[in-house]
Amino acid sequence: MKKHNFYAGPSILPEDTIKNTAEALHDFAGMGLSLMEVSHRSKEFVAVMDEAQALFKELLNIPEGYEVLFLGGGASTQFAMVPFNYMQNKSAYLNTGAWANKAIKEAKGFGEVVEVASSAETTYNYYPKNFDIPEDADYLHITTNNTIYGTEIHEDLDINIPLIADMSSDIFSRPIDISKYTLIYGGAQKNLAPSGIAFVIVKVDSLGKVDRYIPTMLDYKTHIKGGSMFNTPPVVPIYAALQTLKWLKAQGGVEAMYKRNVEKAAILYHEIDNNPMFKGTVVNKEDRSLMNICWIMEEGYEQYEKEFLDFATEKGMIGIKGHRSVGGFRASTYNALPKSSVEALVACMQEFKALKIS
Ligand SMILES: *Cc1c(COP(=O)(O)O)cnc(C)c1O
Repeated sequence: MKKHNFYAGPSILPEDTIKNTAEALHDFAGMGLSLMEVSHRSKEFVAVMDEAQALFKELLNIPEGYEVLFLGGGASTQFAMVPFNYMQNKSAYLNTGAWANKAIKEAKGFGEVVEVASSAETTYNYYPKNFDIPEDADYLHITTNNTIYGTEIHEDLDINIPLIADMSSDIFSRPIDISKYTLIYGGAQKNLAPSGIAFVIVKVDSLGKVDRYIPTMLDYKTHIKGGSMFNTPPVVPIYAALQTLKWLKAQGGVEAMYKRNVEKAAILYHEIDNNPMFKGTVVNKEDRSLMNICWIMEEGYEQYEKEFLDFATEKGMIGIKGHRSVGGFRASTYNALPKSSVEALVACMQEFKALKIS
């Protein structure tokens, strides 16, 4: 039976990414050696790094003055690296969920953190807007897509202080205006590669403004200077990321992806809104994520939650259990997820309804 992969992360990747990476693990670039056992300074691997950075810039239309880095430690290390490099005394954070909170916790180690807005009181079921930003904060940090709660901001904020964003789960899902941001980062394992790297898009002239010692490996300047190869980078995830970037380009790039993502999400949200057994958890439709779609049983049908999960799992729907803090269900509809998987899930929801209410 075909499996439909709705995991939130690590999550579905293009078949090409998996196939090409598997091949390179046996024979990399015709060298007769595995990708795992070749120097990262070999001309063959340097070419991979160069092409991955160049394609990353091309696909996101990254302007001059920014660099792309692939670093170990996941997005979680970025939670600390950001304040280490940018926060002198004060920073501003938008509290939109568990990941935002982890970022806030790290920043608090460096001084005053102003929480400009929070949707915590309603289990983060909306994306706060119209908040005041302290002008003397060194930056505002946002999480553009809240993987656990299924909320997303669909525009690039225009603000007066540097904007820093965790885009772990929506990078490459829509066109972005990079020039609005000072730094963007994310774990690669949602929309790009297997786990093991974080990507960072950094505006080079924004650095060097705090007067503290920054440990070498936590200083963005180190990695810019070293071409993202100051030390041995995670070569296998970087190779896989390049395969995903090539696939993205062949699919028509980020614009084409965005169209497909809108279409896929619309199919599933339509079912959630119209099937009497289910209801969406995100109240404002404009805040609904295109990447992580969350829903619960409608009132009166709560007793069927486990049964629906088992029913769907039996039909090949993998990874639709909601995060434990929200309950219910979550389908992650990342770039590599085909529309046919969304259609299969919708069919499954309709079939379940027909079994229970006719
Ligand atoms: C998954 C995720 C993270 C954590 O990423 P790691 O690479 O595991 O540290 C951070 N932020 C968001 C929005 C995520 O979805």
